[in-house]
Amino acid sequence: MPAIPSIDLDDAALRASLARKIEDATALLRRVAAEYRPAALANSLGAEDMVLTDLIHRERLDIDNFSLDTGRLPAETYELIAVAERRYGRKPSLYYPRHELLEAYVRAHGINAFYQSVELRKGCCHARKVEPLRRALAGKKAWITGLRARQSATRAGLPRQVFDEVHGLEKFNPLADWTEREIWAYIRLNDVPYNALHDRFYPSIGCAPCTRAVTVGEDIRAGRWWWELPETKECGLHFRGQKTDDRGQ
Ligand code: SF4
Repeated sequence: MPAIPSIDLDDAALRASLARKIEDATALLRRVAAEYRPAALANSLGAEDMVLTDLIHRERLDIDNFSLDTGRLPAETYELIAVAERRYGRKPSLYYPRHELLEAYVRAHGINAFYQSVELRKGCCHARKVEPLRRALAGKKAWITGLRARQSATRAGLPRQVFDEVHGLEKFNPLADWTEREIWAYIRLNDVPYNALHDRFYPSIGCAPCTRAVTVGEDIRAGRWWWELPETKECGLHFRGQKTDDRGQ
């Protein structure tokens, strides 16, 4: 479903299912805050992560909220960071690439080398996302993501809790069983801020040069790294090994 789904906020069945999902997600977030301190939400600033930000704020849970500023984010994403700061009253924890890593990469390969090969694209993702994520997760007992099972075929069977062997901590996906309609119903009902690009057929938003709008009938993630084959589309933030799950953000 490429565009924001139209939501009938008077739909009793939708509201009932949403109420159950909110209850479940909130219970899980409370448990994470109580049992896995320090824990952090890896906020990609997508619609799902804004729902989680709102739930955590509403419950006043002791869970950190960080984002990775790759330096190549769309202007609309920076605007959302500023809007969310005003709405929730806390400055975002932003993590940046290590300048020496990034400078070496750009000097060697060029400013837009990610279009040239999968290897160079992964090198850029490593410097701008993977390495900063490691620093963001250092010392944490758990991290939380907004991944959902229905975002793509590769996310089917996504667990709500899994041990992340790569980073060595517990990983929680409280929205794993939420539908797209439930996400947007929550956003509408609670007036949650979201990225303006969602209104322009960007269902999944990452770095500006690696994200495009999708058309009717295309997969939600068709606009991410669209020049690559589907099986290479992951940036290394999420891994699916024997015991971990894997998705690009
Ligand atoms: S998404 Fe694109 S610009 Fe962003 S880190 Fe990965 S390759 Fe680089």
